[in-house]
Amino acid sequence: MNSKQLFEESKKFLPGGVDSPVRAIKPYPFFAEKAEGSKLTDVDGNSYIDYCLAYGPMVLGHSNPEVVSEVEKQLVKGSAYGVPTEKEIELAKMVVNRVPCADMVRFVNSGTEATMSAIRLARAAKSKNKIIKFEGAYHGAHDNVLVKSGSGAAGLPDSPGVPEETTRNTLLIPFNNEESVIEIINKNKDSIAAIIIEPIMGNVGLIPPKNGFLEFLRKITLENDITLIFDEVITGFRIAQGGAQEYFKVTPDLVTFGKILGGGFPMGAITGKKEYMEMIAPSGSVYQAGTFNGNPISITAGLATLKQLDQQFYSDMNSKGKNFREGIRNILEDKNLNYQVAGVSSMFQIYLTDKTVWNYDDAKTADTDKFETYFKTLLKEGVFVPPSQFECCFLSKMHDAEDIDKTLNIIDTAMKQIK
Ligand code: PLP
Repeated sequence: MNSKQLFEESKKFLPGGVDSPVRAIKPYPFFAEKAEGSKLTDVDGNSYIDYCLAYGPMVLGHSNPEVVSEVEKQLVKGSAYGVPTEKEIELAKMVVNRVPCADMVRFVNSGTEATMSAIRLARAAKSKNKIIKFEGAYHGAHDNVLVKSGSGAAGLPDSPGVPEETTRNTLLIPFNNEESVIEIINKNKDSIAAIIIEPIMGNVGLIPPKNGFLEFLRKITLENDITLIFDEVITGFRIAQGGAQEYFKVTPDLVTFGKILGGGFPMGAITGKKEYMEMIAPSGSVYQAGTFNGNPISITAGLATLKQLDQQFYSDMNSKGKNFREGIRNILEDKNLNYQVAGVSSMFQIYLTDKTVWNYDDAKTADTDKFETYFKTLLKEGVFVPPSQFECCFLSKMHDAEDIDKTLNIIDTAMKQIK
């Protein structure tokens, strides 16, 4: 069956024909056959240069030979034991050695589980209930953080089925706006347990923090007995060995990981300072558990991945990202287009707006119809970027000069069409 036929079939058995909403590409998604290096191939025989990379995890490219070989060796020894393994210690040590705030690690199965547990931990540690989240930030699919944007107000649920009582304690403010942070803390004196932040917003396109914003958050959270949680599900192990906290030199209390940490397999983690981490059961009483927590397959893939992410890797990825963005900027300049090219290291996105994007409201000024044309042109020509203006794109180790030249030419074609 081809992708179109598979989608018709799939709709009968999977809600909307997919297992996660963002995959519902219109009019129908292409169905994957295989992936290797920088390329993803569909069942219709098309090959794409892949800048979606499964929404971030595949930093070494698809089917990295060392990861595949290590996982194969592990698979025949068992895939879940229900008792601990030595490899969990090895990966935890690697995380602790790389991540500035990490004294200990709890491995879970997804980024969603990680942020859910980190928020619980912060609330328990501070004996307070409210949390601050930034408009447009995504911290997974659990009730506490599924909250619509709505400046300064306690949030309304983003989805039917999320009780208002749950999100009443989730306060929303704009990203990169120090006054809003001060105001909301003053208004909710002594009841805020945590600020949770994507240090680089990666779920509304890509928004970097303004100079000094993360430092400001560190200072104000310390002054007000508030836990600072960095959600590094995207940035973790992507922009530096120690993630955004190393890159921006700001150390939070807790950090959540996912994506790259599992080397292409399901994984998440909560890490942080010992005084927090020792509160997690069974060491402490904050409940967290999971049948597949620390499962040997994801741990093995994570180890095989992190071992390859040395300083040289990050310096190569930084230059690759910088040169690529420069190439896109040249195309735009050539055509007198004032669109925005955002990016840090190997993360990037083009905003189809004249406005510099510093927060969710700025991001929403982007022209999503034009983005659809851009996306479709790229796809037709063999380049796969996430289908939404409000996602970000990734480079991997395997994207070479040929991929990048070809992609820049295709972006040039797309820009002629949406001009
Ligand atoms: N936090 C951030 C910043 C994310 O980007 C995501 C997923 O994209 C999550 C949390 C949730 O992770 P998962 O999809 O593994 O549950």
